[in-house]
Amino acid sequence: MSKIDRIMTIGLVIFWLVVLVLILFCVLIREYLYFKNYISELEKRNQKLETELAAREKRLRDMRASDDDRFNYFNAVFAAMKDGIVVFKDDGALVLANRAARAFLHIDKHIFFKSDKSSYGAFYGLVSDVCREAFESATERRVEFQEGDRIFEVSALLIPDRYQKGICLGVMAVVIDVTEARRLEARRKEFVSNVSHEFRTPMTLISGYAEMLRMWDEVTKEERTKALDVIEQETKRLKKLVSELLTLSRLDRQEGQERNLPFVDVEAVIEQILWSLEDMANKRRVELVSDVEVDYPILRANEQFFYQMLLNLIENGIKYNREQGLVKVWARSDGNVLRITVSDSGMGIEEKHQERIFDRFYRIDEDRNSRHGGNGIGLSIVSSVVEQMRGRIQVESRPGEGSEFKIELPLNGGTLGG
Ligand code: ADP
Repeated sequence: MSKIDRIMTIGLVIFWLVVLVLILFCVLIREYLYFKNYISELEKRNQKLETELAAREKRLRDMRASDDDRFNYFNAVFAAMKDGIVVFKDDGALVLANRAARAFLHIDKHIFFKSDKSSYGAFYGLVSDVCREAFESATERRVEFQEGDRIFEVSALLIPDRYQKGICLGVMAVVIDVTEARRLEARRKEFVSNVSHEFRTPMTLISGYAEMLRMWDEVTKEERTKALDVIEQETKRLKKLVSELLTLSRLDRQEGQERNLPFVDVEAVIEQILWSLEDMANKRRVELVSDVEVDYPILRANEQFFYQMLLNLIENGIKYNREQGLVKVWARSDGNVLRITVSDSGMGIEEKHQERIFDRFYRIDEDRNSRHGGNGIGLSIVSSVVEQMRGRIQVESRPGEGSEFKIELPLNGGTLGG
């Protein structure tokens, strides 16, 4: 091989080597760029994932916080409820009881998650039995239970599983103290029966004598006069009864409790009552005396109710007095409390009746046709008016000696102490 050939061969080899190196370099550059892109892509995805993850974590934290808040709200509502709530699991263990339920059923925290109820009282035993019965029969139950002087209504309600139809997770019992509702119901029934009774006697008399007057020519003049007298008297009695019932109903509807009631002139009201009862007192030869020193204006009240309250007391003082007896009205105020006393020298009230005379339709003399003809509503109106005026009434009496009704009324929107 000539020298030129050798140089050419070496040149060619170098050339191919250079080409190869260049190709290799290009490949490396391409791979490098590809990897760089790939890595930056990966970094971007990573970053996106991290942001998403952070957002999810935040959402989760928020959800947990709102769950905690909701739990707190539920707890607060549960604790504040006046009705008792207890929850039993399907195995009969108690899992939840709010404050009211714990008080009603006399249970403490040691009872939770235990099915044994033997060491707790009869009421808890009943609630637990009713819940078990409801669970086993898959129907809701309702029972009433008398615990001491209180009456409770227990309703056992099933707790269905939200996710599996037909599955019952346990039973919830709602325990409600219905004593007041039952008492009001009984009072209402008694009231209706009393009212009907009160109406029946005068109406029977009126219709009987009206029937008699139909035979006008067959009855004597005296009989006619008597019939008309009875009709007149019984109609008056009915009118009085209706008006007293209306007053009671207005008092029950809390009329007269408006703000800024007008001032009442106490002295003038008492004078007016004494004047209106003068005839009645004269007929019974009862002396009316007043000793009233009360400034004006000091008392804000519904004048009609205030008038009715004192009228009933003074009228009773005359009605239940002896001949030539005395009724005295005394009133004073110290700026904070107005004190009024109505005393009489009459027949007095035995101690056993003294608390009950303020009840509606309560009469000491049960004979409806007694000479006084009262219907037993007068003093119940008195006590309702006193209550409405946030006052107090007391009676002191000795049979055969007389009675004293003492009223205290707070002034200037205040309350009575002690
Ligand atoms: P009535 O309309 O029958 O008088 P009240 O409610 O005013 O009804 O009184 C209830 C009962 O209290 C009366 O039946 C009466 O026997 C008794 N009573 C009320 N006030 C007096 C009094 N001042 N003295 C004696 N007994 C009274």
